[in-house]
Amino acid sequence: MEHKFEQISPHILIMHAEHATDRPVLAAITGERRTLLMDAGASPAHAGQFREELERRGCRLPDMLVLTHWHWDHSFGMSGWDIPAVAHEETAEALAALSGRGWSEEEMAELVQAGTISEASVQHIRLEYGDSGAVTIRQPDIIFTGRITFDLGGVTCELIHVGGDHSADSCVLYVQEDKVLFLGDALGPSVYGGPYKYSSTGFLRLLEMAYGFGAEWYVESHGVPMNDQDFRADLAPWERLARVVDVFGHNRERVVLEMKDYLKLEELPGDLLKGVDYFMAGPK
Ligand SMILES: [Zn+2]
Repeated sequence: MEHKFEQISPHILIMHAEHATDRPVLAAITGERRTLLMDAGASPAHAGQFREELERRGCRLPDMLVLTHWHWDHSFGMSGWDIPAVAHEETAEALAALSGRGWSEEEMAELVQAGTISEASVQHIRLEYGDSGAVTIRQPDIIFTGRITFDLGGVTCELIHVGGDHSADSCVLYVQEDKVLFLGDALGPSVYGGPYKYSSTGFLRLLEMAYGFGAEWYVESHGVPMNDQDFRADLAPWERLARVVDVFGHNRERVVLEMKDYLKLEELPGDLLKGVDYFMAGPK
């Protein structure tokens, strides 16, 4: 990655995702009156790095934050921001269920057992927090259902609940003037409680939703920002895979055959093969 921070459009500065501890993208969207922060970060340390960069650049610091969904890497940094936090009601419910919990090894093992988090998240939390176990979960201040609009002064942002396989509370954030769509992890498979899973109809519904914005830039929380053309090219094989699964169901052999034929390849690339497994593990 070239830089850790990047101005991706006139009103948006992002901190790129970092894969070592699964830190997602953070974004500051600045209008004439207010700055909105997208996702709180994985920890106060993560939050602090972004705030320092905003200060260094003389940007208006965030006045409020929104969560794309409750997952730890997006929300546990909330205690590092003393500003109102906006969340979907299911995000708020999930965070309320975690409040007051300890984050010792034993307590994290219980959460893995219950399918609330994964073994991979435990390892990432360990790395992000060291062995201090100093996780503090803050509750959101403003709870919405459906959608909510933010007028930052000449910049309008819409936070829209879309749900999906990854997490039922998933929301996307669209910045109208900049034509940037933040997808959170909405297009990802379900990752907690068993094997990774995709449903073909759910995935196709979300893709249609994403394309429907007519955005110029798309930002997935664990990827790099992509323009419309690159985003569509990147997702084309996945869309095809979902359509093939829609037709042939859980006939793995046939699905793989159809995909090889479509891509004119002898073997499917590793990420798509994994994708086939996610769809095969999904609902019939
Ligand atoms: Zn997530």
